[in-house]
Amino acid sequence: MQETEKSKFINSVLGPIDINTLGFTLSHEHVLTASAGLGISYPKLIDKNDLISRATKEFIKLKSSGIDSIIDVTTMDLGRDVEILREVSINSHVNIICATGTWRDIPRSFWYLRPSQIAELYIDEINKGIDQTQIKAGIIKVANDSEGITEEGEIILKAAAITCKQTGVPISTHSYARNKVGLEQIHIFNSENVDINKVYIGHSNDSTDVDYLEDIIQHGAWLGLDRLPGRNPDWKERADVTFQLINRGLEDKIMLGHDWNYKSLISNLSEQERLSANPEGFLFIKNQFIPLLQSMGVSEKSIKKIMIDNPRSFFS
Ligand SMILES: [Zn+2]
Repeated sequence: MQETEKSKFINSVLGPIDINTLGFTLSHEHVLTASAGLGISYPKLIDKNDLISRATKEFIKLKSSGIDSIIDVTTMDLGRDVEILREVSINSHVNIICATGTWRDIPRSFWYLRPSQIAELYIDEINKGIDQTQIKAGIIKVANDSEGITEEGEIILKAAAITCKQTGVPISTHSYARNKVGLEQIHIFNSENVDINKVYIGHSNDSTDVDYLEDIIQHGAWLGLDRLPGRNPDWKERADVTFQLINRGLEDKIMLGHDWNYKSLISNLSEQERLSANPEGFLFIKNQFIPLLQSMGVSEKSIKKIMIDNPRSFFS
């Protein structure tokens, strides 16, 4: 008998799906990253049809390799285009969960709004739809980087907190692990009375400080080890950190992703350089990282927990 939880429906780009159908899930990915409005004002920079057809081929390959779902945490300020996600999901049968919220390019207009006003916009993207479509968000994204939590960053965190409390939709963060920004984010969410079990602290495996990573989990949050293969630390060091966390008995709160951008217009690397750094793209975890963990002694049961059970519990 497969272990299943009670049915609960969450928003995917194709409409509500039962969390029990999520299956093998990559926790933090992007089909396209760019800047807000770029595809509309400068379509020369993004050939939408070409991107849909190339990404579809890639996602069909993912599905046949056993990847059932991705969480695409691309927000408006990161060039989100939900129609591309919908087409790729229809054609490939990979579930895609898309995001409301705000990344690092916080629109200047938001700097002068109250968190409750921004939360209204996020809530509409969850309940009504994004960009005048019926496509609804299933996750709330926020981002704080090396600068820590700026004034405008705090407005976004508070808007996300209101949205999470009102809709029950979980929060996924971009954090700067080297400065332990994940704990600062948790601190704000705690002061806003967010259920920390609905918070995922992303990019945590840019740090090798296992005590810091455990601290995030001890606060009740989910730990996103979602930069793979990544550089500095390299992927073998990242595997070692993952192994140590599992050995500490913390596998119930870990998820894995690549933070892979299938197409990126915000990278300082050329397309060729990005591909040579990760030729396997969304398949790196499946083809390289999991086999390495297994060779270190991580059990099939632990892998299933991290890749299948935890994403489902996060949304439950
Ligand atoms: Zn990302």
